[in-house]
Amino acid sequence: MSNNFKTFLKHTAKDFHNQSVNPPIVRASTIIFKSMNDIRKTQNKYKKDPTGGHFDYGRQGTSTTHVLQKILSKLEECHHVFLTPTGFGAVFLAIFSVVRPGDEILVADPVYSPTRLLTEDYLKEYGVKTVFYDPHNLDSLKKIINKKTKLIFVENPGSNTFEFQDLSKILLIAKKNKIFTAIDNTWATPYFFKPLKLGFDMSIISATKYYSGHSDVMGGSLAVNKKLFKLIEKTQKITGLRLSPDDAYLITRGLRTLDVRLDRHQENAKKVAKFLSKFKNIKLLYPYKQDSLNFRMWKKYYSGASGLMGLKIKSKSKKSVDKFVNSLKLFGYGYSWGGFESLALHQQSREQGKRQFLDLKNDEHLVRLHIGLEDPEDLIQDLKKSIKFIK
Ligand SMILES: *Cc1c(COP(=O)(O)O)cnc(C)c1O
Repeated sequence: MSNNFKTFLKHTAKDFHNQSVNPPIVRASTIIFKSMNDIRKTQNKYKKDPTGGHFDYGRQGTSTTHVLQKILSKLEECHHVFLTPTGFGAVFLAIFSVVRPGDEILVADPVYSPTRLLTEDYLKEYGVKTVFYDPHNLDSLKKIINKKTKLIFVENPGSNTFEFQDLSKILLIAKKNKIFTAIDNTWATPYFFKPLKLGFDMSIISATKYYSGHSDVMGGSLAVNKKLFKLIEKTQKITGLRLSPDDAYLITRGLRTLDVRLDRHQENAKKVAKFLSKFKNIKLLYPYKQDSLNFRMWKKYYSGASGLMGLKIKSKSKKSVDKFVNSLKLFGYGYSWGGFESLALHQQSREQGKRQFLDLKNDEHLVRLHIGLEDPEDLIQDLKKSIKFIK
């Protein structure tokens, strides 16, 4: 098998028994063994090699989910990848595996809003304190870390506002203080950036987005290093988080073209960014402007950029921003992203409400665009005729 990941993605997981190009969907709760001895043998194999796919019950997975785990472990270059029914399940698994009552966790201020809800509100009820940090002032981390700090939870770039952080700096501080680190890497995927290679303990991907790529399946992955394997394995068993074989199949199928799609998302997004960069009333929240801090921090760690970007629009009329978004014909209005199609959202204050380090003035509005795989010239024409409505 080729070591080149693009080639590996096309040739892996063939099923030679069924002579099929893709692996079969194996659905199972009960797994039948030939004898009691056979069961014990499998359980012993599992004990010796817990990532080897030796299952005795469907909650652990089947050959279909195991194929996906193997592909993702190679993509992440990590010890093991746990699969969850949604991306948010992977966020939950990462956090609940390591924090205990009395602990504190540090969370990047611009995290995905459900992650904020989980840490800030829900964890509080379990005696865990969350402190949010400014993604562009990492020196502040040194001041807010104390003996109780257990985990630093990063999301890069930030949700909706797309701040890129100096990731090595975070890791250095964490390692010095023996604090676990997790990153939500859904925006880039390991195709553009591999967090475990840089030194993160855990990396989360919402497979719902680019892995599946077709907006018709949900799933999540949590990549871990050897140090955290046992802890996560135990929590996954207790929580019963499991990805269905049918969903694993669709995600595996989506992954075949991950590289092709992401390369094109990037190409299209760059063309759209170039067009949008000409407007004085729009600030691009995307690694495009070469002299910006965000661009430098992106360039330092990433080999590419995906199709999701933000626009900070200056306008005295919120209504006119709404009109701009509503006039788009080729962009759908809806949550999630990472499929083949373009999407637009005018962010409501609900999403930004609790941010502590967000500099957003009354006449500034956030619009999020997912640049899909349409002809970029069509997308630019669509934006061109709609931007006129911004007053
Ligand atoms: C979508 C998303 C999630 C959650 O994934 P689901 O599959 O929708 O549960 C988590 N983090 C980020 C950054 C996301 O964009």
